[in-house]
Amino acid sequence: MPLFKRKAQFQGKLRLKKGDEVIVLAGKDKGKRGKIIQTIPDEGKVIIDGVNIVTRHQRPRMTGRATPKTQTGTIKKPAPLAGGKVMLICPHCSKPAKTTIHLVEDGGKTRVCKLCHQTVDAT
Ligand SMILES: [Zn+2]
Repeated sequence: MPLFKRKAQFQGKLRLKKGDEVIVLAGKDKGKRGKIIQTIPDEGKVIIDGVNIVTRHQRPRMTGRATPKTQTGTIKKPAPLAGGKVMLICPHCSKPAKTTIHLVEDGGKTRVCKLCHQTVDAT
């Protein structure tokens, strides 16, 4: 482990999980809350329901089959947001909470809210 502090660059660990409620700290949706519907650990990004909505124009594809699976026309969907731009909201005290990692006996890890000391992870 390097002793110096690295800048806010993605380091390969995403502390957020699908289903977490988070608050957005930066960007156009600053202050918004939402649930994580997908995580992209490789990029350190998360997709949050209703946050960072982008409009995509999808053209109908001719696949040869009768019904194309993809939705066509103008679709709005949440775009991935950097994990560092969001903060987990503790389900117990419903405040944006920093978490610490606690090791549990069976070898797993659990996240604990620093404010109320409750386990954040759903069991
Ligand atoms: Zn808490």
